Amino acid sequence: MSRWAYAFGTHRTDGDATMKALLGGKGANLAEMTRIGIPVPPGFTLTTAACNAYFQGGGRFPTGLVSQAEKALASLERQHGRRFGDPNTPLLVSVRSGAMFSMPGMMDTILNLGLNDRSARGLAESSGDARFAYDSYRRFIQMYADVVLELGKEPFDKLLEQAKRRRRVTRDMDLTARDLISLTERFKDYVKKTTGRAFPQDAKKQLWGAVRAVFRSWNNDRAKIYRRQYGIADSLGTAVNIQCMVFGNTGEDCATGVAFTRDPASGENKLYGEYLINAQGEDVVAGIRTPLPIRRGQSAEYDEESLEARMPKAYRELLAIRKKLEQHYCDMQDVEFTIEHGKLFMLQTRTGKRTGRAALKIAFDLHRSKRIDRKEVVRRVDPEMVTQLMAPEFEPAALLTASRDGRLLATGLPAGPGAATGHIALTAKTAASMAAAGKPVLLVRAETSPEDIGGMLAAEGIVTSRGGMTSHAAVVARGMGKPCIVGAEALEVDEKDRRVRVGRTVVKEGDLLSMDGGRGWVLTGGLEPQPSEIQESVLRRASGKKPKKGSSMLTMFERLMRWADAESGLSVRTNADTPRDALVARALGARGIGLCRTEHMFFGDDRIAAMREMILARDEEGRRNALRKLLPMQRRDFVGIFKAMDGYPVTIRLLDPPLHEFLPTEPRHFRQLAKDTGRSVEAVERLVEQLRETNPMLGHRGCRLGLTVPAIYEMQATAIIEAAISCRSSGIRVLPEIMIPLVGTLREYTDLESLIRQMAGAVMARKKSRVRFLVGTMIEIPRACLIAEQIAQHAEFFSFGTNDLTQLTYGYSRDDVARFLPEYIQQGILPGDPFESMDPEGVGKLVATAIDGGRAGRKDLKLGVCGEHGGDPASVRIFHELGLNYVSCSPYRVPVARLAAAQARLSEGGGSGTA
Ligand code: ADP
Ligand code: MG
Ligand code: MG
Repeated sequence: MSRWAYAFGTHRTDGDATMKALLGGKGANLAEMTRIGIPVPPGFTLTTAACNAYFQGGGRFPTGLVSQAEKALASLERQHGRRFGDPNTPLLVSVRSGAMFSMPGMMDTILNLGLNDRSARGLAESSGDARFAYDSYRRFIQMYADVVLELGKEPFDKLLEQAKRRRRVTRDMDLTARDLISLTERFKDYVKKTTGRAFPQDAKKQLWGAVRAVFRSWNNDRAKIYRRQYGIADSLGTAVNIQCMVFGNTGEDCATGVAFTRDPASGENKLYGEYLINAQGEDVVAGIRTPLPIRRGQSAEYDEESLEARMPKAYRELLAIRKKLEQHYCDMQDVEFTIEHGKLFMLQTRTGKRTGRAALKIAFDLHRSKRIDRKEVVRRVDPEMVTQLMAPEFEPAALLTASRDGRLLATGLPAGPGAATGHIALTAKTAASMAAAGKPVLLVRAETSPEDIGGMLAAEGIVTSRGGMTSHAAVVARGMGKPCIVGAEALEVDEKDRRVRVGRTVVKEGDLLSMDGGRGWVLTGGLEPQPSEIQESVLRRASGKKPKKGSSMLTMFERLMRWADAESGLSVRTNADTPRDALVARALGARGIGLCRTEHMFFGDDRIAAMREMILARDEEGRRNALRKLLPMQRRDFVGIFKAMDGYPVTIRLLDPPLHEFLPTEPRHFRQLAKDTGRSVEAVERLVEQLRETNPMLGHRGCRLGLTVPAIYEMQATAIIEAAISCRSSGIRVLPEIMIPLVGTLREYTDLESLIRQMAGAVMARKKSRVRFLVGTMIEIPRACLIAEQIAQHAEFFSFGTNDLTQLTYGYSRDDVARFLPEYIQQGILPGDPFESMDPEGVGKLVATAIDGGRAGRKDLKLGVCGEHGGDPASVRIFHELGLNYVSCSPYRVPVARLAAAQARLSEGGGSGTA
């Protein structure tokens, strides 16, 4: 027969910390704490396997579970000298959920189980504390009714409020025993009235009801949503912990609390936490009373009410346990505890969640005290957290106050971390002009397009009501390192009336707005963001200034990055279109540019006119005339970028987007264009109309453009080689890699390659100088993956454009996925957004196929990735495993990718570096 129950207690402990999959994190750690001599109330754990068996059996307990649990319960009775269900001195237990991965607050827990009308009376007598007995009973009825009978908490909260109002008190603890007795009666009446049955009085029945309910809570909606969000498998199941109660609500020498063994926000090596006197369980987090600080100095005005001041003995015990736990687990712990008549009991421990700063500080502190080695430091910092270190921030307390004051206007996807406050601008133009007038601006739009670049640059942050994590706004803002929220669907952006509506709330253009890009919160009014030190230092270095003497945070950040690079198998480049971005990325450790898009270079005021002239030219001659105007500008761009990247490779993608993206939409621009090209306004309008495509993303773009309008790529190739020669003659090392976009057939590649080589040859002959350069292609069309071997016989490098590759592999338009993707994810049809984290099965397989083919075609083929996935840690791991040479990502993602690359390599070896 299978074993379903594992005991923990001084008497006997079956499990340990390694058994999280079977016992859940909570159960495994309760066992582990018991083993190392930390005071834990005894109990037993019903396994996650039991939960799964329960579901497989269609909601029936598997054979043996009941008898094993009863045996374990009997052992608890013996240890405690009390009987479960006893009318006079009842043994009470908690029934607690606990899965392998902590899912805080997602599932259910019931306290004080075993109480009924008689035993409540018995407990009142035997403890001599009627208030305590009925406080416990009313809590139990409410939790049981909510979790097992599914009546919700609210009806009971209401009855409690009524009782307090009747007694004219505001705090639960001011209700007397008499009040609580009548409250339990009301609670039971409510249960009877709504369910038609009396509140269950039989302790065993209560127990089985609770166990079932905890199993069931594995599949409640919030637990499911949480699992989706964090990629936790539905198949794991939850364990159930049945544990003897200890009471924090039986007098002024009793308390309950939560604590971190170090400060989770700053990482400071000091106990940090909150507690409540004469209270139970969730009161601390539930905000029923304002909890008090544990330590003196934690919150100065409450020093005298701290646990340290009020219960010094229990406090000292807690300090000793903190030390023991940290020694044992070798990491910051998040603990829950209860004090019963001055005696401390631990009820939970787990690795504590922390901010980016704290992660860094804790890892380095542990390293300094020789507890973990360098590799382990690199492993300990979540790459995603690094972005926090670089973004300006709001103080959490200020945010909370603002949201409590009703200032939270909408929430959206956290596309770019960081905090910003500014005046609302609804178009790129107003954003630019407001910023020019010295006002900080937040650009708020339904969505953004390349034309909005100027406004985005001028803005402190960007908010859109539509779009996903890889929408234009998200990608560009991340590239700029700006806070960005996308898909804030509650916002109705009305550009015409110059206002934004959310339900009945209206804000106008020019009003102050604040955003927290890391949380995805949009708030009305201003808030003061604090610049991050690391960002400041990076920007100083990017603009050639000497770095200021840094704090320890900056030193740690830089050391972490160096240690990461030493472990890494992938090199990290950046996607950058301007010298400025390139410099920032270098300051963040990029070793080259993996994607320099050239289209943005054509949007500047001085260029767009020439570009439009080129597109609408009557003949080849007109086109070449226009391109001649663009050539020197384009050359200047490349010189700037080569300089910034001095010595590092630069991959330049030839023009990619459909031409109509460059065409005007405003009448004034039509008139200008008519003048420039010597046509009538009507003729211009007609031509522009003709250029519109039904599906431009699959239309006349990329190499298709290069082949049908060769003058464009000729100009670009010429500009690149001229720029390279001019840089080299002034002593700058250059390594251009010319990349042809959107190739799907061999001829597309070979025809354009010879065009490029011909142009390059001509320039070199004319300048009597030679430069080394590579020609290669972006692999972003599934067909290209399948014929990779042929292409690689000609191409010198492949760069995977995984944005388009994902779009084309799934057949999802990247700009429209927001309409169905959230629902797909919610329903579990997709595990997550494939544009955010690369799909290993489909897209990954195409990439693998292309790598195999590519290497077969050319042994020394250079392989990289330039899609957004290059900055996503999970995808970086796949790219590492596939054996790419580099990943490329937005400048501010570079440190994330560096750390992720190192962790990918370190996780191959396995093992941990704790001393
Ligand atoms: P969650 O996973 O939501 O934190 P827990 O199972 O940890 O739920 O229970 C919440 C709280 O209930 C604990 O932090 C603790 O304060 C209280 N609690 C649980 N079991 C006991 C117990 N046996 N004795 C006293 N308090 C308990
Ligand atoms: Mg807990
Ligand atoms: Mg593409």
